Amino acid sequence: MGKILVHVGSQGGEAKRSSLEVLSHVSRKIAGSDDVVVACVFDVNPGRLEQTIGEYGADDILMYMDPAYESHLNGVLAAGLEDAIRATAPSLVVFASSESVKDILGAIAVNTGAAVLPDVVSFSAGSGFVEAVRPVMAAKSLARVRAEGELIFVSVRSGSVEAIKNPKNPGTTTFEAPIKPADLKQQLKEIIKAADETVDLSEARVVVAAGRGVKDEVGKRLVEELAGLFGGGIGASRAVVETDLFPATAQIGQTGKVVSPDLYFALGISGAIQHVAGMSNSRMIVAINKDADAPIFEYADYGIVGDLYTVVPLLIEEIKRHK
Ligand SMILES: Cc1cc2nc3c(=O)[nH]c(=O)nc-3n(C[C@H](O)[C@H](O)[C@H](O)COP(=O)(O)OP(=O)(O)OC[C@H]3O[C@@H](n4cnc5c(N)ncnc54)[C@H](O)[C@@H]3O)c2cc1C
Repeated sequence: MGKILVHVGSQGGEAKRSSLEVLSHVSRKIAGSDDVVVACVFDVNPGRLEQTIGEYGADDILMYMDPAYESHLNGVLAAGLEDAIRATAPSLVVFASSESVKDILGAIAVNTGAAVLPDVVSFSAGSGFVEAVRPVMAAKSLARVRAEGELIFVSVRSGSVEAIKNPKNPGTTTFEAPIKPADLKQQLKEIIKAADETVDLSEARVVVAAGRGVKDEVGKRLVEELAGLFGGGIGASRAVVETDLFPATAQIGQTGKVVSPDLYFALGISGAIQHVAGMSNSRMIVAINKDADAPIFEYADYGIVGDLYTVVPLLIEEIKRHK
């Protein structure tokens, strides 16, 4: 395969967990071959990026360090990625399937003539082809897909592969952004952050998600307290977002965020397929629902049939005792 380029998403000099999963997976897959993994990263300051990316198995790093990346504008990132592709001439480019990657993948594929396999949960690559498995129809089914070409893009759902350290001593080259925000036709005016979005949901190791069974401020405080015990993120079903108890940014599912934590609590969530599409990749699912026939129990590793207003306080008490 020759060179494989891995895009490492980052913020504030810290690499995203989903990208380290992808980097580590690719690095382990090519072990013992002549193939080379080149990581490219786009941020304002290097922070700990060089060290972390080396720990997870990159042979080379292209560091695009520029104030232009503070804006999180897709056009600036897309131009940087195209520059990295030109500089590396890879046969395969692998991304974590983040929101910004979803936005630009099609555009850079058209500009570079690449074939694309988006949002896969597993893949294997050979000379001139990639075969992958990807969830389709709101994750109801899996499809086996194949791409052929001299340049292939694959984006991988977070939580699909493991981030295991595989330390190397990569060489690093630093670049400026090839285009600046002023060169673009759109401008970023303001980033409006939900006041309670303290943990990045798509990167969180623990997510406590509320459904319509969480009916009031008392229930909301239980969700917050349980999440706080783990330093976890707070998610929500669309039904409870529509009651205005939780912000739209917390919505998980087909039309919300896709999460893949180690531990997912579903509190008062029925398990509609549109919700499950956003959380089925969680490593362990704990469901609390008063309806024993709720579909969420089909996906749960542990299920508690009961009123969440009774069960969650007991759970919180028990977790506190073991802390
Ligand atoms: C095109 C489309 C896209 C959609 N996208 C999304 C999406 O991205 N995300 C999403 O979540 N939904 C989405 N939906 C909506 C989805 O179909 C469901 O309506 C929604 O997920 C239901 O949310 P819920 O489970 O919280 O509510 P409900 O289905 O009403 O379930 C509430 C559950 O809480 C339980 N319960 C009630 N009180 C208690 C209590 N005191 N203790 C314990 N359990 C209790 C009930 O038994 C029930 O199972 C979409 C729908 C469409 C058509």
